[in-house]
Amino acid sequence: MAAKVNEEKCVGCGSCERACPVGTIKIQDAKAKVSGNCIECGACVSECPVEAIYL
Ligand code: SF4
Ligand code: SF4
Repeated sequence: MAAKVNEEKCVGCGSCERACPVGTIKIQDAKAKVSGNCIECGACVSECPVEAIYL
């Protein structure tokens, strides 16, 4: 499992990218993208202002 992004909600703010301790989130085309090495820490979930990222 890895964090997943609801692209309809994501506003591309970058808060999750800054919060991720393993650098696995990148903003592409104004949407957050999670790559393979998510450790399921939940930091991104806590930081998202629009509840667009979830575990
Ligand atoms: S759950 Fe943690 S490791 Fe996974 S994408 Fe979010 S901040 Fe990064
Ligand atoms: S914190 Fe939420 S709205 Fe901001 S880029 Fe990440 S998923 Fe999208």
